[in-house]
Amino acid sequence: AAKGAGRNRFSYFTPALQVAALNRMRLTNDLRGAVKGQQLELYFQPIVHLKTGRIHKAEALLRWRHPVRGLVSPLEFIPLAEASGLIIEIGGWVFRESAHWLQRWRSAVHPEFQLSVNQSPLEFQREGGYDSWLALLGELGLPGQSVVIEITEGLLLDASSSVTDQLLQLRDGGIQVALDDFGTGYSSLSYLKKFDIDYLKIDRSFTRNLAPDSSDMALSDAIIVMAHKLGLRVIAEGVETPEQRALLAAAGCDYGQGYLFARPLPAAEFDALLRAQSVAA
Ligand code: C2E
Ligand code: MG
Ligand code: MG
Ligand code: MG
Repeated sequence: AAKGAGRNRFSYFTPALQVAALNRMRLTNDLRGAVKGQQLELYFQPIVHLKTGRIHKAEALLRWRHPVRGLVSPLEFIPLAEASGLIIEIGGWVFRESAHWLQRWRSAVHPEFQLSVNQSPLEFQREGGYDSWLALLGELGLPGQSVVIEITEGLLLDASSSVTDQLLQLRDGGIQVALDDFGTGYSSLSYLKKFDIDYLKIDRSFTRNLAPDSSDMALSDAIIVMAHKLGLRVIAEGVETPEQRALLAAAGCDYGQGYLFARPLPAAEFDALLRAQSVAA
């Protein structure tokens, strides 16, 4: 019997699943060394004020330069980081790196510049909450308002008291909050009155199909009107064409982010872009 069991141990997996599972295990192992091995990089994508075309904000987006595989997408490795708990260490690195660039850009290029940092729901279970983040901002002389935390609806959906407490701690520290990928989740509108949120980010899936009189246009219009009535500002994700930009601007959308303006850029390239804008002003 033992022999049979041994031979058939994986029989309920298809080979493709075995390969995928093995691949995830290997990548997770590699990820353990990525922070210390300096394989992580932050890219920055401008967030553009639609009326003026000016860059006042950016989103920090994580990249993993794997020594063998090359660039691995965060869509692939963030879930592994979450499943393994590595997201806490990685998130800490992202925040420290973000804060240093932010300080540089605010002091040398754009005094009102604001940087958005994505948060995994698991980061809201960090021991000590956001104490060390707020302390770092203090050390660098950065006001809380210079940072926007991007969260998704899933976090608010199962909002335990620790999530609520930490959102309050962030708010008390002046940090702003954006609801990312808005419209793709459960979109219970009650979140918007229950939690203090500053920005709604309209998901790319709406922007993609924007056309006059389309249903996505109707939804985007409604989201923008509602957000403004609640005192929130709106950022459209995934703006790729001048037509999309024009439709969003006409609908009163405040900011746009997408390949039309720029792809996510390495820090040095983003730095150059921001400086060029400030010289032109
Ligand atoms: P997200 O926060 O919704 O970020 C926007 C994603 O859309 C980015 O993908 C960006 O490169 C992409 N994008 C921007 N403009 C366009 C466009 O015009 N067209 C298209 N097709 N795509 C556009 P990216 O960089 O691959 O990141 C994917 C996701 O990974 C992010 O989605 C975010 O959820 C997560 N992520 C990235 N960095 C971090 C991080 O530091 N921490 C955590 N927890 N998650 C992160
Ligand atoms: Mg985001
Ligand atoms: Mg998003
Ligand atoms: Mg997303």
